[in-house]
Amino acid sequence: MLLTISTTHQPATDLGYLLHKHPDRFQSFDLSFGQTHVFYPEATAERCTACVLLDVDPVGMVRGKSRNQAAPLAQYVNDRPYVASSFMSVALSQTLNSAMQGRCSARPELVTTPIPLTVRLEVLPVRAGEGFLRSVFEPLDYAVEALRHPLDERFPEWGDSPYFSVTLRKTTTLSELLTHLYVLIPVFDNQKHYFVGEEEIEKLLTKGAGWLAEHPERERITRGYLRHRPSLFRLALSRLVEAEEPVEVDEGQAARAGAEETLEERLSLNEQRLDAVTVALKASGAKRVLDLGCGEGKLLRELLRDRQFEEIVGVDVSIRSLETAEKRLRHERMPERQAGRIKLLHGSLMYRDKRLEGFDAAAVVEVVEHLDLPRLKAFERVLFEFAKPNTIVLTTPNRDYNKTWETLPAGRFRHPDHRFEWTRQEFQEWATGVAERWGYSVRILPVGPVDERLGSPTQMGVFTRA
Ligand code: SAH
Repeated sequence: MLLTISTTHQPATDLGYLLHKHPDRFQSFDLSFGQTHVFYPEATAERCTACVLLDVDPVGMVRGKSRNQAAPLAQYVNDRPYVASSFMSVALSQTLNSAMQGRCSARPELVTTPIPLTVRLEVLPVRAGEGFLRSVFEPLDYAVEALRHPLDERFPEWGDSPYFSVTLRKTTTLSELLTHLYVLIPVFDNQKHYFVGEEEIEKLLTKGAGWLAEHPERERITRGYLRHRPSLFRLALSRLVEAEEPVEVDEGQAARAGAEETLEERLSLNEQRLDAVTVALKASGAKRVLDLGCGEGKLLRELLRDRQFEEIVGVDVSIRSLETAEKRLRHERMPERQAGRIKLLHGSLMYRDKRLEGFDAAAVVEVVEHLDLPRLKAFERVLFEFAKPNTIVLTTPNRDYNKTWETLPAGRFRHPDHRFEWTRQEFQEWATGVAERWGYSVRILPVGPVDERLGSPTQMGVFTRA
């Protein structure tokens, strides 16, 4: 497997200093799964290219340890030696570690200077397709060229393979480029071939510092990097989400955040909303209920007061919120029999989760507007297709109503973390579409004082499975 890095920064041979590898030498390094060789096919003042050739030894890797009993041949016959995979990532970190860390005593100023860099990954397996490849690199400002290879050139009717030749271009520091490659190459590789432990989370968060938390595909990147181990994924994601919360908020932001509370406090909208949701859940006859995106657990507490609800499960992606919820619930000083009715789960509503199946009803209170619009489809399937409780009670702000709040500047949302706020029309369209797609009927109800022209501050959809 071949990866090349080129620059036209002048003098281009400075690349040798940055990589800590002399352009005139051919160097080899032993790794636990094979060897890497680093060499320079071209090294002139105008242009310099370094090659990292990874020679994976698939037979050596399985010798003495039989891993795959179900498909014994697969451990010998696979694409590992020919594609960029997590092995390439490990090879980069082991052979180019100083460069990745941004250390270079010979040319210290170069470490922080963005230089024009081109990377070519000879073969990268991208089973999710070119769109995903672009959605990972383009937000980081890489120009992406991708060429998809057919399964077999002699048999075009067999169609495309999952393998791409990928070229990435960006003017940046070598250290940043290597860090991105280190994190992102394994994301495309869905083979589970080595153990991923919790220490991988630390690596991911360290290497992802400053860019991963804001990346629109952060969830898929995190999930892929952690080899689809759901427990690790959830932990990492919550830490990413929390890392994102601003430590020092600027005043404008604080005012905006405060605005939601004071505006809503005046109306005690919060309480009206909890009441409305509780009433709708109760009316559905539900005994086992989910509170999805339960936050600090206000609704959970409300539900606990009513004996109709025999099992109450709160789910949130933020560990911090779950901890607060747990503390609050503990303060209720419930007898043990009561405490057994309630459970808190850590999870993301973006991913199918077996733990959410088999409930009578789910509440989703002021949560959808916190999800990125393009990801709403995933949420829709998780809830309506897979969890599919008989009743779903979902609330979200009514954007039309924002006009009645003088303190909220036009075009602003009620909370800085809201990704969107729907007008009544928009919510209606979404809700009826979802209901139709998944076999539910829906009623839309106002919550809070109703303005004749603008409706109510909160809109609530009550979905019932046919
Ligand atoms: N339902 C609560 C909290 C609303 S705030 C209430 O009405 O008070 C939105 C909540 O959704 C937050 O707690 C946030 O952590 C959670 N959330 C955001 N994205 C999520 C996701 N992808 N999966 C699960 N919870 C999420």
